[in-house]
Amino acid sequence: MAGTSSPVPQVHVLATGGTIAGAQIQDRARGYKAAAFSVDALIAAVPQVAELARIDVEQVAAIGSQDMDDETWLKLAARTQAALDRAEIDGAVITHGTDTMEETAFFLNLVVRSEKPVVLVGAMRPATAISADGPMNLYNAVAVAAYPEARGRGVLVVANDEIHFAREVAKTNTTQVGTFRSTHRGLAGLVNGGRLHLYAPAVRRHTYRSEFSVENLTRMPRVDIVYAHAGMGRGLIDAAVEGGAEGIVIAGVGDGNIAAPAQRAAADAARQGIVVVRSSRTGGGVVERNIEVDDDRLGFVTADELNPQKARVLLMLGLTRTRDVAALQELFYTY
Ligand code: GLU
Repeated sequence: MAGTSSPVPQVHVLATGGTIAGAQIQDRARGYKAAAFSVDALIAAVPQVAELARIDVEQVAAIGSQDMDDETWLKLAARTQAALDRAEIDGAVITHGTDTMEETAFFLNLVVRSEKPVVLVGAMRPATAISADGPMNLYNAVAVAAYPEARGRGVLVVANDEIHFAREVAKTNTTQVGTFRSTHRGLAGLVNGGRLHLYAPAVRRHTYRSEFSVENLTRMPRVDIVYAHAGMGRGLIDAAVEGGAEGIVIAGVGDGNIAAPAQRAAADAARQGIVVVRSSRTGGGVVERNIEVDDDRLGFVTADELNPQKARVLLMLGLTRTRDVAALQELFYTY
């Protein structure tokens, strides 16, 4: 397997923590501490990666990914970009907790400007567990990052022998190793013991064709997610507005719907210039404009296929560029 710029591919590994680096007190314990092991220890546990690529490593954070925040995203994006800008680097692997992996992957998919593969990888079982899934996931992730034909496919997530597109992937189960699913447009491919089977490329714009960047960005606009339910009132939407949200993503019922009092609160927010995006809590499907809700009249944006947490990422980045509702809607059809 040849790299694009050196005979032996070179992969830069950026570590952020998560269960892949987690340790239990004993191997059958349910409790464990995420981010207990350093990136050097993770790589040392899979010496076989040396057959795939030369590796250099960097510890960006050491957190459970529930603690991933804007500041760490900006830092991680800048460090990933810096690594990919080095001519000798063929691809990047980012070790990450699985809880918010889909959000980080989608964020990087929108802001990293490179065709080189960027692969997020995690594990559902701690490194000390019986049948830990981290070592094979890491081996496969390095194989994908080192593979020339994985270039230009945007940010990818590797777990459980599957390769997912950042835009499509979602964590769907609290504990199982097969937690990641790509609901809408399917998998990017499979990877078995480091052997790749790539499927069709991503359909939406990403990475090297993205208009977004973290250059000169020191903070991100505040966007809150409000989860809809039967009997929903206006309280949470009003609280988001009072708290200073610049955008609100509604995890609506069904096709992104919300009860009448909540919809009135959302319309009031939109009138004040706060951008309201309707997405769905169902886990699949498209939220289209003007079906049961008069989006044109109320000034709402719809999330298309993005789940609430990914709609939030796109809205945050969109708000760094514009507050125009039509322009923001267009972003949801483009990315
Ligand atoms: N909550 C931890 C995290 O997301 C553990 C989940 C995991 O990594 O699988 O980092």
